[in-house]
This record gives sequence, structure tokens and C-alpha cells, in this order.
Amino acid sequence: MTDYEAVIGLETHIQLNTVTKVFCSCKADSWFDPPHTNICPVCCGLPGVLPVLNKAVVEKGVLLARAMNAEIRPLSFFDRKNYFYPDLPKGYQISQFDQSLARGGYLDLPIPAAASPDKQAYTRHVTIWKLHIEEDAGKTKVSNQRRLIDFNRCGVPLVEMVTGPDLRTADEAAQYLIRLRQLLRWLGISEADMEKAHLRCDANVSIRVRGETKLNPKTEIKNVNSIDAVREAIAREIERQIREVEAGRHIEAWTLEWDEDSGTLKKMRSKETEADYRYFREPDLLPIRLDEGWQRQILADFPELPLERRARFVEQYNLPEYDADILTSERKLSDYYENTVKSYGGDPKKVSNWLMNDVLRMINDQGLNPQEMQLTPDALAEILKLVDAGTININTGKALLQKVQESGKKPGAIVAEEGLGLVSDDSTIREVCQAVLAESPNEVAAYRAGKVTLIGWFVGGVMKKMRGKADASLARQILEDLLNEKNG
Ligand SMILES: [Zn+2]
Repeated sequence: MTDYEAVIGLETHIQLNTVTKVFCSCKADSWFDPPHTNICPVCCGLPGVLPVLNKAVVEKGVLLARAMNAEIRPLSFFDRKNYFYPDLPKGYQISQFDQSLARGGYLDLPIPAAASPDKQAYTRHVTIWKLHIEEDAGKTKVSNQRRLIDFNRCGVPLVEMVTGPDLRTADEAAQYLIRLRQLLRWLGISEADMEKAHLRCDANVSIRVRGETKLNPKTEIKNVNSIDAVREAIAREIERQIREVEAGRHIEAWTLEWDEDSGTLKKMRSKETEADYRYFREPDLLPIRLDEGWQRQILADFPELPLERRARFVEQYNLPEYDADILTSERKLSDYYENTVKSYGGDPKKVSNWLMNDVLRMINDQGLNPQEMQLTPDALAEILKLVDAGTININTGKALLQKVQESGKKPGAIVAEEGLGLVSDDSTIREVCQAVLAESPNEVAAYRAGKVTLIGWFVGGVMKKMRGKADASLARQILEDLLNEKNG
């Protein structure tokens, strides 16, 4: 049987999280607002108005370009993309065509073993073909056979970013979107929520016999609004194309629409030729001049990126990749981890265990922001030190997490106040040990007859009586002494 491979390119539209739109002062994010409540003569294209560029849009675009290793153009231009559609009141979209904000770029995309066909992790080099600023059009929705238009989205700032045909599987496409979403949130330039259309994705899919280099006619999948749906839609389309080719038919360049409810692709239209958008320079806007000073200012606090930080965590803290990946899933979480490690000074892997198991569960269950928690990195570090020093046991330490989070008190203060410290007073523990042995003559006899594994059972009895606060190793020592001494 012929071995096929898929050739996939993704076209993403990223809504930047600016306060206002790209060329007017209307509110940018109006997801929850009624139709036509965030519009003005500029974004609706009434005669006699002029657009004014929102500086923040350029700055956020530059951050993304830098993160994608793209070259930033010192001089870039806006162009008009002309087409007629009911949701485009101006009759054109202001975009960037041949001299856009950035040129080139790439992302070295790690594909985890779980998303790899042969269960081996690998890296996919994804090139960036286009990265430019543009304004969004309005929203169209069909209801009761009527077409309804909402202009709120007109003029919402977008970055359009298009990859080369470099992805080879539906899983790789999903990984690309996962990493892009992580990056956008890390840089703080977009909420990147696909369900709210902050991040939209169209996928171009074709297949070829593995080993060939030519590109075959592709189909374009539109209207996919979650990462899972992108993965699913691409996988279905690859299967369909293979079936078609195997049956001796040609793949036609269709535009397909993903139907979320039925999980199927429907043909929207034939995509025979590219529309002629008659691009020309936007006469109402000046070019963007990104001189060195402005670029330096924008990039002054450019952060370490998630994949770099992930690699550093593995290297510097000797963490498994699994841990490093989770801890760098969000910038605030990775800062929290690193601050705890610094404050603690002990084994970084131990911090990772506590954070990933207990603290992260708390964060997720209660919807907390790591930066605003009462359980600060210093407080978590203090709990770890108390456990290390034998002042409290692990269970008490874990209970302290929630107590500190609720009260904002220092862990040490709570231990003192509530008497949570371990009892390591020899005579107190000895008394309890004697009581436990006196209550269990049969087990004592069995132990003395050679069933020494019963020691754990005796220790358990002591811990139960002391409600977990006995120093377990001391209790064990005393029990052994008592059991052996009477024997001799
Ligand atoms: Zn407006």
C-alpha cells in the first residue's frame, strides 16, 4: 500500500489584547456586548473620517515577531485589501501586503512522544511565511434563514500569521496551536482563547506520496474553534484525501467548513482561483517607522520564552522534561516555582513535586492566580523547611498549604498556634508506646516469636493515639527497645 504524508500549513488570526481598536478609540474586546455597541464612524467607514494607528498594536506585533525569530522591518506600510462582503462596511480591509511588519521567522516546535506516530519525541521546524497587522471585519451569523451582521468586531486589531507547509500530522498542527497559545499568553499580547475567537485558525491540507517534494492541490478548512477540533478536522480531511486518491480521483481545491456538532467537514465553495483583492497602499495612514530607539524600548523587557525556560529548568534544576513542561506552561507559574526554589535552597525536584501535586491542584480548583496567592513562594519554602527539619510531618505540611492560603499567616506561626509540631519528647512517646504494647498482648507475643514486620503496625498504633504528631522514627526506636528488652 502506498505510504502518504500530509502537508499542512496554518493560517492564524490573533486578536491582540489592546484596550481600543486598531484605528479608532472604540473598545476592542466586545465579546459579551450586544451587536453594534462598540462602533464609530471610523470603524464603520463613514465618509470623511481618518484612521489613527494605535501604537500598542505595533508594540505587541513586534513582541510576537521577535518571539517567532522574524526580522522586524524598520519601515512598513498599510495596504487596502478590497472586497465586497456584508460584514465589511468600508468595502476594504486595512491590512499589510508586501512590506509588512516582519519578514521570515520560525518556531522549533517540540512534538512530545504522546503526539508522535512512533512514540518518540522530536522537533518540527516550522517556518513563518507571513506576519502582519490588520483590522478585523464584522461578524455574520445566520439565524432563521436571515443573515445577521454585527459590526462590533470591525477594526479589532489582529496579527495574521501564516506558517509554511511544514506540518505533517494533525497532532503537529495541534501542538503548534498549543505552543502559540502559550506564547501569546506568556508575552501578554493576547488572551488567545479560541472559543472567544481571540485565536482563529484555518488549515491548508494536502497529501502526497511520502518522499515526494511537490505540493498537490490543497483544501482549506475554516470555522474551527478549538484546538481539539482543528486536530480532528485535519485528521478527517487527510483520511478523505487518501480515500479519494486511492479511488483514482483528483483532490479539488475546495474550501471546507468544520461542523462542530456533527464532527464533519462540509464543502463551502470551490477555491479555484485566488480572489483579486486589488491591493494598494492605504493613503490615509503613514508608514510605521520602527527606528532603533523605539524597537529597543519595546524589547527592553523581552522575557525568556517558555521553550527556553523549559530547557533551562531541565538543565539547571535537573528536572524531568515532564515537570519542566508543566511548570513552564504559564509564565506566572514558572516564576512562582523559581522563586520558591530560591527561597527554599533545597532540592528543586522536591519543590516541583509539591507544586505540581498539591499547590497546582489548589490553584486550579480555586481558580487562583499564582502571583496573588497568600501562600507565597516564601511560605511554601518555609513549609518545606519545616518538613525537612522534622518539625512537622508531610501530612501536616500538606494541610498547612490550605491554612496559609486561607489565613495569610506564616506557616511557623500556625504550627506554634495550633500545636502541630511533632512530639519528639522521649518520655511522652515512651508512655504511649507502653500503652500500645499493653493493649496488644497477642501481637507482642507474635513479634517476639519472630514476626518482626509487626513493628510497622505498632508504630501505626502510636501515631494513631498521638494523632499523627509523634516523631515516627523515635517511636519506632522506643518500640523496638521495649519489645527486645522484655524479651531478653
Ligand atoms: Zn470605532
